[in-house]
Amino acid sequence: MIKSFTHEPRIAYFSMEIALRNDIPTYSGGLGVLAGDTIRSAADLELPLVAVTLVSRCGYFRQEIDAEGRQIEHPDEWAPGEHATLLDAKVAVTLEGRTVWVAAWLYVLEGHMNGRQPVILLDTDLPENNPEDREITHYLYGGDMRYRLKQEVVLGIGGSRLLQALGFDVRRYHMNEGHSAFLALELMLRHAYPPEDVRPGESPYDIPRVRERCIFTTHTPVEAGHDRFSYELWQQVMDGFVDLATLKQLAGETDLNMTRLALNLSEHVNGVAKRHAEVSRRMFPGYRVNAITNGVHPHFWTCDSFTRLYDTHLPGWCHEPELLRRADCCIDDEAVWQAHVQARAGLIERVQARCGVALDPEVAILGFARRMTAYKRPDLLFSDLERLREIARHHPFQVVLAGKAHPRDEGGRQLIERLHRHIRELVGEITVAYLPGYDLDTALALVSGVDVWLNTPLRPLEASGTSGMKAAFNGVPSLSVLDGWWIEGCIEGVTGWAVGNSNESDNEGDARSLHEKLEQVVLPLYYGDRRGWVAVMKGAITKNASYFNSHRMMRRYGVEAYIR
Ligand SMILES: *Cc1c(COP(=O)(O)O)cnc(C)c1O
Repeated sequence: MIKSFTHEPRIAYFSMEIALRNDIPTYSGGLGVLAGDTIRSAADLELPLVAVTLVSRCGYFRQEIDAEGRQIEHPDEWAPGEHATLLDAKVAVTLEGRTVWVAAWLYVLEGHMNGRQPVILLDTDLPENNPEDREITHYLYGGDMRYRLKQEVVLGIGGSRLLQALGFDVRRYHMNEGHSAFLALELMLRHAYPPEDVRPGESPYDIPRVRERCIFTTHTPVEAGHDRFSYELWQQVMDGFVDLATLKQLAGETDLNMTRLALNLSEHVNGVAKRHAEVSRRMFPGYRVNAITNGVHPHFWTCDSFTRLYDTHLPGWCHEPELLRRADCCIDDEAVWQAHVQARAGLIERVQARCGVALDPEVAILGFARRMTAYKRPDLLFSDLERLREIARHHPFQVVLAGKAHPRDEGGRQLIERLHRHIRELVGEITVAYLPGYDLDTALALVSGVDVWLNTPLRPLEASGTSGMKAAFNGVPSLSVLDGWWIEGCIEGVTGWAVGNSNESDNEGDARSLHEKLEQVVLPLYYGDRRGWVAVMKGAITKNASYFNSHRMMRRYGVEAYIR
């Protein structure tokens, strides 16, 4: 089975998380969804890729929210054997002086146009490993720093050894975020000079040769967000793996910074939006950081009613999303509106079933769903409830929310509680529903079923953001802070609307701007001018879906990074 994938050289795409499908919980959020869309587009475009990730048998977590709005986490177990095939290859890595065996499952991602992509899921849950080591690949982003370090060793070093054992001829290694950067250390070992050729003080490794083979996509616009380990921990777990002085030169003198390591060992480095690349260049002076703005998978992120519309009027759009630029002239307004009404009915049904909240089909729905964490400011809309009530008295609206907080992100957990408090405070005046368990299906229902997609991050912390791109495929305009992709995607009044200005963020100013835009521009247009509203829906499709898709993104990775 694996033979059908090893006959030609491939790009190895490494990611800590990949969102393969809704019932495989090996992802936590945007990074994993992007990885999934990357592989889905690679399948459709028949790019020779092989993806590597952890099997994460216990998933990220299943979210329950209690009556007080507290998040309760449950393991989200899945059975790899139901979706994937266990391969008969096994490799060893040494952790804390013990041999830890790593096995692998093959998941074959089937594109919707006959393309297929191999995804390797690494698994240490083997009888020959000790009980502690068997758990290394169980919990996505679980455990402490030691656990995380071991996971990243299994991903980067175990993963590249497995590809070799399986007979893959890897042209280039693409690291989706720094978690997998240890793979470059493994390559260094493979490209070490014979000891007798190394003069004192010279690097024992052919670093230029390693750099030629590595591509690094960074996703985090703040230093504090980058994975780092103390060298003390590194030595306890990985003592002697590579020359320590060389490692410090590559990954930082004071601690082992995975982003630095990846930057120093990759010839091609890119950020995930133009602004994010600029921020990264400032954060890491001296590195060439390109920009390849993210995109989302056209077919995967378009709801049924819009898929039918595009299939009828713009055949071929799935392979060539650029065709959507003609949607304004090729599809009539009423057909676009009716497709939206259908998607909205689906969301209303889901909200009723999942939270017992009845949304009014005649009232505008605002949507906000993403990882619940401080910088995303999910509470910005609710920062002045009196103001919100006043807006709703003139132009009624309702809100649907969703999102998980990382179990150890106390601020994020409190935000979920605070949002539930606001829901109670607004009862009878503004209907607000919180859908528990934000996953791929919920995301599609939301981005297609709401009327306006909100995003209010604190600048410049949103590297890209992708949910607004998904909304665009479904004719849903964004009302968003100018950060990440929206700097490139926003044309005021044409594709959606901006919140605040493009300088530094402040909560008060941004909240005022958000409320003002809603009251003065967005809701009056929604209720007062259907033709004008559909024009903005079409603007989102023609100007943004045609560009912010993962086919364009992968064609660029192909030309600019993979075949240099
Ligand atoms: C798209 C998606 C995200 C990322 O959305 P952002 O706008 O980048 O925050 C997170 N979680 C799920 C389930 C998604 O589908």
